[in-house]
Amino acid sequence: MEAVTRTTIAEALQWASSMLSATSDSAHVDAEALLLRCLGKNRSFIYAWPERQLTEEQYKQLQQMVARRAQGVPVAHIVGEREFWSLPFIVNESTLIPRPDTEILVETALNLPMTDDAAVLDLGTGTGAIALALAHERGQWRITAVDNVGAAVELAKANRENLNLPQVEILKSDWFAELAGRKFQLIVSNPPYIEENDEHLALGDVRFEPRSALTAGQQGFAALFHIAEYARDYLVPGGYLLLEHGFTQGKRMREKLNELGYHQVATVRDFGSNERCTLG
Ligand code: GLN
Repeated sequence: MEAVTRTTIAEALQWASSMLSATSDSAHVDAEALLLRCLGKNRSFIYAWPERQLTEEQYKQLQQMVARRAQGVPVAHIVGEREFWSLPFIVNESTLIPRPDTEILVETALNLPMTDDAAVLDLGTGTGAIALALAHERGQWRITAVDNVGAAVELAKANRENLNLPQVEILKSDWFAELAGRKFQLIVSNPPYIEENDEHLALGDVRFEPRSALTAGQQGFAALFHIAEYARDYLVPGGYLLLEHGFTQGKRMREKLNELGYHQVATVRDFGSNERCTLG
């Protein structure tokens, strides 16, 4: 028989949650996620069986995970996974952790009037979250995802494999560099858009994410403007560009797209009703 501690699921949850309350403003949710990973169960299990005891091994693993979380390591990095568009994505330190706010970009893209076999490009795909979520919804779309970081390309490919979406093409490319001569009906991107000296970078999960996925020059507009400028050469007539940006960047982004000759420029708000994506 396996040795067991006297710690029950309910006690372990309460312990983990109180250990994290000083360092995380989502202590209870974090504690739940870490405990579930140790138990290898889903959420309903811990509430159905609060009196069940953890094995010594599970409790030890929980203590180690809680200690890492208490040092600020993102839950997604500890458990190696983050849900996006209700799909499980493998995550690691080489890319941005997918954010719920980016689901608004996916939703906006899905609502565009597109042909069944549209060619779609995702620039700076990271985990592959946007491209793979779109592929999950639109099996006929011909989706290409690129990233300039080799480790990100590998991660996106692992997610493509894990989600069984082999039709998505994943390439290493510095924005459009490897896409000469190609045309797309839709180009999407969640590029780095935070200002290099933004104080937000010293707080929370972003401390553990690569700067190359977060920050850009020109008050955070460098990548956004670069993509907007070059995308015109890679879009079919009447094609769309859809970019995520910071919630204070909407106005400048609309001005830029208008200057560059895009039409029907409009900004979409996220779940927090902040300006989040601009379409042209
Ligand atoms: N929205 C993210 C944040 O504020 C940043 C994402 C990005 O730079 N593309 O942490």
